[in-house]
Amino acid sequence: MRKKHIKVQITVIIIFSIILGFSIKYVSFGNPYKTKSNQQKLISYGSKEQKIIALTFDDGPHPKYTTEILDLLNEYNIKATFFVLGKFAEQYPEIIKRQAKEGHEIGNHTYSHINVKKVSKEKIQEEFNKTQEIILSLAGVESKVFRPPYGIFDEKIISAINKECSIVLWSQNEDHKDWSNPGVKKIADTILSQIENGDIILLHDYVYHNESHTVEALKIILPELKNKGYKFVTLSELIEISK
Ligand SMILES: [Zn+2]
Repeated sequence: MRKKHIKVQITVIIIFSIILGFSIKYVSFGNPYKTKSNQQKLISYGSKEQKIIALTFDDGPHPKYTTEILDLLNEYNIKATFFVLGKFAEQYPEIIKRQAKEGHEIGNHTYSHINVKKVSKEKIQEEFNKTQEIILSLAGVESKVFRPPYGIFDEKIISAINKECSIVLWSQNEDHKDWSNPGVKKIADTILSQIENGDIILLHDYVYHNESHTVEALKIILPELKNKGYKFVTLSELIEISK
């Protein structure tokens, strides 16, 4: 009798854990997010009706890898969005100019990749504004998209940034952690197996290694997605099409 009781208890715990796990996943990735203030929507995917996807690259520009990615995008005639850090944009201004000239979108990813949870609203504003100014001076256009580092956001961030700027996260459940060089095949396989209409794909042009698995994975991903008939759009295009 006692054994049976324990069995029932264990079953209940397992079922509860599954439900809890699912809820956490849903809360983390179930979109679109509605903020309390309700003034600004957080975007993490576009229209599911159309075969469009947006490629996004964070943390650059990187003197070598960003250039290699731009060459690849050129080869496949694909437009993407780069969430740049103000400090690297200052360091490699020619890359930002090239991105703008070649029709890519440039997004704000703060000046120094701050953890927005750990700093004041004033500090977020300072980093955001400084990066907006750098992008404007180099690209000639004001950035319309912002991605908080680590994908962390709350009311403080929402109130700190310009309301003209959309806060954009990403779609696929997994952050592919391509910045850690997990293997070319792993990056390509997860992206290709999870791809859906309207996806915003998160990748990184800045990796702290002697070689970049992201660049190599793109050589597999780009032709494959083109063959599947996906149209690559910038984030502003994705937002406009999905309205
Ligand atoms: Zn980042």
